Amino acid sequence: MAPGLFKCVECNEDANELHRDYSNGILKITICSSCKKPVDKYIEYDPVIILIDATLCKIQAFRHILFNTEINIHWKLCVFCLLCEAYLRWALLQGSQSNDDPADIIRYTKEWEFYCMFALAALELAVFCIGVLFILWTAQCCSGSSVEFTPLLKALLLSSYGKVLLIPAVIWEHNFSPLCFSLIRLFVLTSNSQAIRVILNCSRRLSLLAVCGGLLLETWVAQALKTLQVCSQDYLSML
Ligand SMILES: [Zn+2]
Repeated sequence: MAPGLFKCVECNEDANELHRDYSNGILKITICSSCKKPVDKYIEYDPVIILIDATLCKIQAFRHILFNTEINIHWKLCVFCLLCEAYLRWALLQGSQSNDDPADIIRYTKEWEFYCMFALAALELAVFCIGVLFILWTAQCCSGSSVEFTPLLKALLLSSYGKVLLIPAVIWEHNFSPLCFSLIRLFVLTSNSQAIRVILNCSRRLSLLAVCGGLLLETWVAQALKTLQVCSQDYLSML
């Protein structure tokens, strides 16, 4: 990583290094010139502790992950979460349709419905991200600042890791509830908001506004798609 690209996890000050290697096996953690605390205390921590702190939405843990590591699994994580979400939607769809014959050929031809659910989940995620980025871009332009979309998008995708909580719902099949999904969504949105705060070093109000705006836009598009689907089904049944 290039010098100056690290950040102090406590005060967000730029730092050239996280530790200094004295070549005889002695490492010394760099102390921040601004707050006089270790630049990144997490480099000594176990990944499990870092994950727990990230789950608790601690801003220091988010700064460590987003600025001081080179994690590049955001796209893989995104596809994995979309697959889980698509499966759950598909399972709900199958549960709402009566089909008692397991050998029914329709069971196999319904595979395309899974891909449709995946595409729908991907579209909703894209709309959410576009809504959030647009609000942040507008707010930053009004304040005379510039916005880099790549780190913001990476932060949004990484901070959506809470969607892996959908895995238990997949494992235990239909033993889930709308309340469970709502809590997972709330957790993911909280993480998204914290990630935006870390990347832009902005106020909590702006990050919450951006997340709520993205959520509203996503909900609106989802409702519009549902209405379109119902209308098209009504039209086809009339033919
Ligand atoms: Zn500092």
